[in-house]
Amino acid sequence: MGQVGDYDSWLPRLDEAARAVAQVPDEELWDHRAAARQTLVQYVRRRYEANVRGRNAPEEAIRRARHALDPNRLTLGFARRFTDYKRPGLLLQDEDRLVRILRHPDRPVQRVAAGKAHPRDDVGKAMIQRMVRFSWREDVRDRVVFLEDYDMTLAQHLAAGVDVWINNPRRPMEACGTSGMKMLVNGGLQCSTLDGWWDEAFSPEVGWAIGDRREHDGRGDAEDGLALYGLIEREIAPEFYARDRDGVPRAWIQRVRASMMRLTPQFSADRMVKDYVERAYLPAARAYRRRSGEGAPVALDLEAWLARLDDAFSTIRFGSVSVSASDGHWEFVVQAYLGEVSPDTVAVQLYADEIDGEGFTRLDMTRESPIHGSVNGHIYRARVPSTRPAVHFTPRIVPRHPEAFVPAEAAHILWWRA
Ligand SMILES: *Cc1c(COP(=O)(O)O)cnc(C)c1O
Repeated sequence: MGQVGDYDSWLPRLDEAARAVAQVPDEELWDHRAAARQTLVQYVRRRYEANVRGRNAPEEAIRRARHALDPNRLTLGFARRFTDYKRPGLLLQDEDRLVRILRHPDRPVQRVAAGKAHPRDDVGKAMIQRMVRFSWREDVRDRVVFLEDYDMTLAQHLAAGVDVWINNPRRPMEACGTSGMKMLVNGGLQCSTLDGWWDEAFSPEVGWAIGDRREHDGRGDAEDGLALYGLIEREIAPEFYARDRDGVPRAWIQRVRASMMRLTPQFSADRMVKDYVERAYLPAARAYRRRSGEGAPVALDLEAWLARLDDAFSTIRFGSVSVSASDGHWEFVVQAYLGEVSPDTVAVQLYADEIDGEGFTRLDMTRESPIHGSVNGHIYRARVPSTRPAVHFTPRIVPRHPEAFVPAEAAHILWWRA
């Protein structure tokens, strides 16, 4: 194994690159955006024409495909697997309003969409048909393009050329939403529901958020759709077309600059790999070294610890749990009967999920005194701020060992049940 530790030289380079964006004049950034948009338009026209030809369309349709889009129009991008939670139909929920947005006399908008559905996903396929039909409408077909087969080449062009990337997953279904991050380095902006990476990255200076941070049932789809129309009409298009005498949209460029400088170093594959290295690979490599040292005493100890837990964890049970309020805190007192398990090999914890803006809690409780007249019964205590209801907290018992990765290596768990 190579030297562990001399790995951290690449992230500062990205930081430097992001800082250097501060020095680029507005005009130059704007020229770059225009050139990138034009490259995208040319690519989309070629690909669209090939799509249309493949369908044996009449010559007139092929000609139209060749001239679709305008390199000077605000360009929205939208590409994904067409699955229900990504809500690809959200922007189509009021077609007439979308048409008005696209055909605005002073602030025209165009949209490039791409996607594919799983062959057996009939809902996804129906959504694609709907989008294709919309793109054939006579009044918008010069400004709406749907491309078949979202692949990496297309993704690369979209990432480079679109002005705003639209993503509207239903909270909290989006694990990440990597496509939005691909825009950052190119100066594309993001408009998305606050889910996946955008939930972490969003601030009003760098992009736009659809809706709030609440989780919705089906009714929220209509609200989110309205919010998206409103954002495009009242904020996105006006800012894009607010040009000064030199033709530069200063506020837009300021936003592009802020997004590139703040978000690029943080939301990149470099950052991801660095996290993997720091949080997973290096700890694993170091643990391996400690465990495999002379005679491997640590590995042997861990094995014995795990064998004892496998054998006896089921003998653990909870006694009473009580909670009382004292000056802004909840005071939890928990009885735990550890059966044939040594108190040193497990932790009694107080756990609460993240909910409504409250972070999650995972607190080791303090072992205080044995329970009188019991064998291996102990009293544990913990105090937490009473900023959220006491019922949010649940005591639980999990394995503990300073050298073990819990729960990856020991997933035993006992939750208290009322
Ligand atoms: C980036 C990318 C995806 C993933 O997009 P998400 O926003 O993470 O769902 C899927 N397909 C292609 C071709 C991509 O380039």
